Amino acid sequence: MSTPSSNAPLHGKTAIITGSNSGIGLGVAHELAKAGASIVLNSFTDREEDHKLAADMAAQHGVEVRYIKADMSKGEDCRNLIEAAGGCDILVNNAGIQYVAGIDEFPTEKWDAIIAINLSSAFHTIAAALPHMRKRGWGRIVNVASAHGLTASPYKSAYVAAKHGVLGLTKTVALETAEEPITCNAICPGYVLTPLVESQIPDTMKKYNMDRDTVIREILLERQPSKEFATVEEVGGTAVFLCSTSAKQITGTSISIDGGWTAI
Ligand code: NAD
Repeated sequence: MSTPSSNAPLHGKTAIITGSNSGIGLGVAHELAKAGASIVLNSFTDREEDHKLAADMAAQHGVEVRYIKADMSKGEDCRNLIEAAGGCDILVNNAGIQYVAGIDEFPTEKWDAIIAINLSSAFHTIAAALPHMRKRGWGRIVNVASAHGLTASPYKSAYVAAKHGVLGLTKTVALETAEEPITCNAICPGYVLTPLVESQIPDTMKKYNMDRDTVIREILLERQPSKEFATVEEVGGTAVFLCSTSAKQITGTSISIDGGWTAI
């Protein structure tokens, strides 16, 4: 076990990361824990393995880690998560789902779920977390958007709309908190190999009759000029940077981690 010293940069801060029992959220939680923050992990499940994940992370980094179940598709659950945690200094809105279909075939319930989990949850958690941040006199809000917050792809109407919405929300919250010691920013990853991306591979292989490596290189990373996936550690490291003193004047913006995708 490594124990962050009391002068670790985020010692004394509590971070809530939504949708953090897997993928990017889990990676961000590890990086924030490494920097000394106490962590609140979240998802909509309440399994033994969720609580074990928290216990293992606490042991690994020597910080307090709790797991709190809350369904980010429900506004009340989003707000209850913040209250159950006793508020936070750092809020990372990361929970997200994906569904791929043409607009004329897009199931309404999938549209509603994507907008609720990928966009509206951030509205609810930010609204609930801000009063706590104001009381604490410090706050960092980091919204995990996407390259799809800046650019579109066909068949991802709900996801693209939600992620563009997250960037609009980020700018608005930044302006509303501009004179306070609170910042609100977004991170826009390109493709990161996580369960969300992994789950798109089999269908894409079938659709294009391609093997896995060809799907990764020619379909998934087609628009990512570096031809490399970004990593969850890189997204986490960027979140830690946005929580640092150097990033004090960075608010209302987005940082792309997309191997040049949005430079084109
Ligand atoms: P993932 O499927 O590995 O993780 C998603 C997380 O959200 C999981 O922890 C899951 O349990 C949680 N979640 C899903 N529905 C939830 C709900 N109703 N309530 C609470 N939690 C819920 O996916 P990921 O790739 O790690 O994605 C995380 C975020 O990063 C998403 O917002 C996604 O849009 C964004 N993102 C991912 C990529 C990528 O390439 N993987 C790229 C850009 C942006």
